Amino acid sequence: MRTPLIAGNWKMNGSASLVEDFGRAFPRTVLPASLDVVILPPFPYLDMAQRAFADTSLELGAQTLNPLHSGARTGEVSGQMLREFGVRYALVGHSERRQLYRENDEAVHDRLLAALSVDITPILCVGESLEERDAGHTMEVVLGQVGYVMARLEPEQRPRVVIAYEPVWAIGTGRTATPGQAQEVMAGIRKYQASFDRGLAAGMRLLYGGSMNANNAAELLAQPDIDGGLVGGASLKVDDFLAICQSAG
Ligand code: 13P
Repeated sequence: MRTPLIAGNWKMNGSASLVEDFGRAFPRTVLPASLDVVILPPFPYLDMAQRAFADTSLELGAQTLNPLHSGARTGEVSGQMLREFGVRYALVGHSERRQLYRENDEAVHDRLLAALSVDITPILCVGESLEERDAGHTMEVVLGQVGYVMARLEPEQRPRVVIAYEPVWAIGTGRTATPGQAQEVMAGIRKYQASFDRGLAAGMRLLYGGSMNANNAAELLAQPDIDGGLVGGASLKVDDFLAICQSAG
């Protein structure tokens, strides 16, 4: 069975006091026994978060990483460095990185390989724009993004990847995909994986992201192909994020 995963992507938000709030709230709250919870704060908070989360079940993730281990890359952070701060997960291919920082499929693949090389679990983000959905190209776009990366991995690397389906039109807009819309695309992703490895498809964790909140999480997470959530705005409020985690049981 697939262990559910709830990941909170703080993006360029949060503060030292929010890190402390999460560190205090989680040990006091009963969460489903089989659930992975990850917080992805901005880089400067990782050190503090590692200490604040030490007595919690919270794991740490990074929002991006550079493909190289070290070198002349001003402003960048490598997977090796992230490992020193206990980072276990990293987003690759978030739509904000694809759009605002021009990361194409090749750049996404390079980052995913860098994460795997230091034993960080990559969360590969994929999703279509509103124009692409309206034009009827959703599956083509999503499977193109998944396929580019998965086809270039060794078979033994593939099971280590988590995929997050985040329709671009649902991110930060308050316009969540309906459970049916999300399930349809995510079933398509799993079916596509099954076309070259059934075991891989059955074990692969698929997350939904895009305006997930305490009110809509349970219905989304109840869908058969949704194994968790990648939460943006609602991960900045301790109570909302805890409620989402509780609905993943
Ligand atoms: P929102 O939950 O704020 O829509 O953000 C989703 C997201 O981009 C998570 O990576």
